[in-house]
Amino acid sequence: MRIFLALTVLLSTLMFAQPANSGSGEEMPSLESFTPDQVDKTLDPCNDFFKYACSKWLKANPIPADQAGWGTFNKLAIWNVAAIHSTLEDASKPSANRSAADQKAGDHYASCMDETAINKAGITPLKPALDKIAAMKDKSQLPEIVASLQLSVRPANLNFIDAQYQGILFGIYNGPDFDDARVNIGTLDQSGMNMPSREFYLNDDDKSKEIREKYVKHVARMLELSGESKEQAAKDAASVLAMETALAKAAMDIVVRRDPKNINHKMTAEQLQAMTPSFKWNKYFAALDVPMAKQYLVTSPDFFKGIDKLIASEPVDHWRGYLRYSLLHLSASSLSQPFVEENFDFYGRALSGTKEIQPRWRRCSSYADIDLGDAVGQAYVARYFPPESKERMLEMVKGIKGALSADIDAADWMSAETKKKAHVKLDAQVDKIAYPDHWQSYSSVEIKRDDYLGNMQRSSRYELERRLGEIGKPVDRKHWGMTPPTVNAYEDAQTNTINFPAGILQPPFFDAKLGDAVNYGAIGAVIGHEIIHGYDDQGRKFDADGNLKDWWTPKDSASYDERDSCIADEYTQDVPEAGVKQNGKLSLGEDTADNGGVHIALNGLQSALKAQGKDLDSPTDGDITELQTFFLAYANVWCGENRPEAARTAVLTQGHSLNRYRINNVVGNMSEFAHAFGCKAGQPMVRANACRVW
Ligand SMILES: [Zn+2]
Repeated sequence: MRIFLALTVLLSTLMFAQPANSGSGEEMPSLESFTPDQVDKTLDPCNDFFKYACSKWLKANPIPADQAGWGTFNKLAIWNVAAIHSTLEDASKPSANRSAADQKAGDHYASCMDETAINKAGITPLKPALDKIAAMKDKSQLPEIVASLQLSVRPANLNFIDAQYQGILFGIYNGPDFDDARVNIGTLDQSGMNMPSREFYLNDDDKSKEIREKYVKHVARMLELSGESKEQAAKDAASVLAMETALAKAAMDIVVRRDPKNINHKMTAEQLQAMTPSFKWNKYFAALDVPMAKQYLVTSPDFFKGIDKLIASEPVDHWRGYLRYSLLHLSASSLSQPFVEENFDFYGRALSGTKEIQPRWRRCSSYADIDLGDAVGQAYVARYFPPESKERMLEMVKGIKGALSADIDAADWMSAETKKKAHVKLDAQVDKIAYPDHWQSYSSVEIKRDDYLGNMQRSSRYELERRLGEIGKPVDRKHWGMTPPTVNAYEDAQTNTINFPAGILQPPFFDAKLGDAVNYGAIGAVIGHEIIHGYDDQGRKFDADGNLKDWWTPKDSASYDERDSCIADEYTQDVPEAGVKQNGKLSLGEDTADNGGVHIALNGLQSALKAQGKDLDSPTDGDITELQTFFLAYANVWCGENRPEAARTAVLTQGHSLNRYRINNVVGNMSEFAHAFGCKAGQPMVRANACRVW
């Protein structure tokens, strides 16, 4: 299991798969720089800073019909997709002097854009896999069939692993051993539920029931499209829901799962086999063509016991229906229009409220990036990433790390002993900026111009085999878990790294033209956020080497928990726009990183200004101060809203608070904010019980 914490989960419709209308190019959208003119001066910043900073932007930028949510973040993401698109359009033109990387990326894109051929082929390209499922006569064949299906769908995006792992029946991947982060261990994880999380199966409110009714209808329609009779499809859909509900009941709760101790279950191959007598692991690994290891990390033993029970209790025809639907769902984006539309209808419309599918060129550009990230990334970086940006980033990272170092020294609730170890960990934290040192060549992946599904399957197989090939081998700290054009960032506790892809190093996050107050408020707060992840309620359990090893004295640990519980309480709140309550214990790591990240970014700015003979109260170009600019630039990157359906799905399934709270809850904890805007005690943006960990 990777403890891999991203800055955000963008609710792009990609997550909820897509497409329909073919349209070719669109011109590059423009990048939006921060401007203080964006504020609504008729409003009081001390009353609702989100509204003060964002309402004008929100009014001018309604959520597009093909998006689940929209904000400055998404706008940059769309800019990056357009940038990828422009490189792919060029790479897709056949020519004698195309580089090998361009051939792979360009032909992948071209095959996806050939919607006429894809529609003409219909379900045919998926037939071999479907036939394998149809030929299953006995449940003892499950290990081989599950392995072959797992090799033919996109392996889960590790960015989302904290919330869910979408895959066939269970997840398999490699990751650093919790007890020895130098070595990769084979990991078996809960998965196999085709709705976003177990809550969707188990919650009892009316909205959840309504979604389940829609889900069963959707599953039946997909099965019908694949050739089942109406009657058979309805029967299968009912058993799919029943089986996935059983998996949900066996799965570990999302909050319990956040504590790495709760998922650190190592089992020998013999123990694993004894626990699940109905599933022969030697057959499974033989089918994956991976030698069996001596031991595995089994994140949730109860989940695998649940699978074993399900194998015993469900007849083979139910298993065929379940595998058939899982395969259709995970392949839908590479199939013909009826599958794409039906898939979008449930995952796009019902679960995220999105009205329309994104244009095909955008989807195809994103899929090329997902499947062949290094080939796409190489071309993208050469065109769109100015090397000078790296220098300024490194400078800011250094300044902000320095601020945390000073913060550790100043913490009156930590002993000298724990502080010393916190410093050792901070000194060992490696920062990676923009793109990898070495690019994968994909030389063994065959990419054909006329076989889109096959391209997806072959590149997915390559990626899963690459991951499984690392089991038992040393962990590569230089490997990236996000592609270069990704607008996101992450901290990986087990490699003790912070990672900032080139995609986020553009306005409004990073703006070479603008001053330090803007950059520290925007990308600086992102840097701070990722640094602090190493010291949030999860990250602090890992030492400098990435091992799950307690380096806190019991007293300091108790003080930490007490301070952090203030944040958990603050964020356990009603979220009216989502129609559900937020669980502050689910979002605790992200909220701690947001709050601490802004603090150390601000202290980093203060030092940078001091070196220039200025301070936080100095005026900037306009009629505002450096400090006000910092907070406005911070708020600006979180200006955005989700559709109610998407907000609900987000609050239930993942750890990031919605944008409004990422702004208001953070500034409400900061006396510096009150000072900046002259807010008084008792006003909404001044919390009486202000929380502070870092
Ligand atoms: Zn984060």
